[in-house]
Amino acid sequence: MSIVKSKIRTIADWPKPGIMFRDITSLLIDPEGLALTVGSFVARYQNKGITKVAAIEARGFITGAAVAFQLGVGFIPIRKKGKLPGETISQEYELEYGTDKVEIHSDAVVAGDRILIMDDLIATGGTLGAAIKLIQKLGGEVYEAAMIIDLPDLGGSKRIQAELGVPIYSICEFEGH
Ligand code: AMP
Repeated sequence: MSIVKSKIRTIADWPKPGIMFRDITSLLIDPEGLALTVGSFVARYQNKGITKVAAIEARGFITGAAVAFQLGVGFIPIRKKGKLPGETISQEYELEYGTDKVEIHSDAVVAGDRILIMDDLIATGGTLGAAIKLIQKLGGEVYEAAMIIDLPDLGGSKRIQAELGVPIYSICEFEGH
């Protein structure tokens, strides 16, 4: 949606040279931008039998919690390693240099759950792929993954749809990385 895209600010060379950082804070601070973003997700996912929204730390939490509230379902945080206090399972994923892990509480998903996963942006798809595997390991169905932004030139969304069979929806796309 072009209004949403127009409210996302790009900060060049942050956090390091060569990165075009797509900054959603300029979208979230704008009441129309926030309403259009949350509203478009809610319109897409209401009456689809979603039982929970799971979102990825930290920017995914912002829209994920708002959408869960509007859908009238619960919210599951997926966090970086060592942050969740209860019993967890974890999933490793590749970074540009090395690996990292995301975790979920083992009791967050129950049989029959139909889960929407949310984050702010998909680039290589490493983080989202790990989050999907966590839900699937716990026996949940991932209905779709919803992002504000896709960077299609990095191939993450295509790869996830092909390898994990999860559809990806994004409100807007930016070229490059
Ligand atoms: P990836 O695992 O490569 O798909 O990276 C996705 C995660 O990194 C998301 O949680 C984003 O918040 C962050 N990210 C990656 N690239 C960018 C970018 N160009 N602008 C803003 N956030 C980014």
